[in-house]
Amino acid sequence: MNVGSIADTLRFVERAAPRRRVLFYFNTPYYGVDDLFLPPDARAVAAETIVRLKRQGYPILNSAPGIRAAATGRFPHPLRYTVVVDATGEYRCCRAVANPDVCRHCGYSACAEMELIRQWHPLAIREALRCA
Ligand code: SF4
Repeated sequence: MNVGSIADTLRFVERAAPRRRVLFYFNTPYYGVDDLFLPPDARAVAAETIVRLKRQGYPILNSAPGIRAAATGRFPHPLRYTVVVDATGEYRCCRAVANPDVCRHCGYSACAEMELIRQWHPLAIREALRCA
């Protein structure tokens, strides 16, 4: 629903929270594919918009390879080294780990960033270090 408002969102963040940066995620269809789901071609367009705005200096935390990997799903996942814990238990990667249909459309761009860092991707490492 907000895919057409990426630049507006960033301008709002610049005004409302100076020096903060935005980590963009894609909808993950936990409850099934619905109107919030972005098909692959629309994800690719959104990822390139984010990369272009980042190059223009907008406050974006995603690395260019990270948001592209999140858009295409071309990174190894579910992750083996992250855990979500809640009142119902512990889940490797996230609560959807037992559902490959959800993982196939994973929109957690943080997973892509972590995996690229683990693979020593220099641009992902550079962005992560800027957070430190
Ligand atoms: S949907 Fe959840 S379990 Fe699957 S890859 Fe994404 S974060 Fe990991």
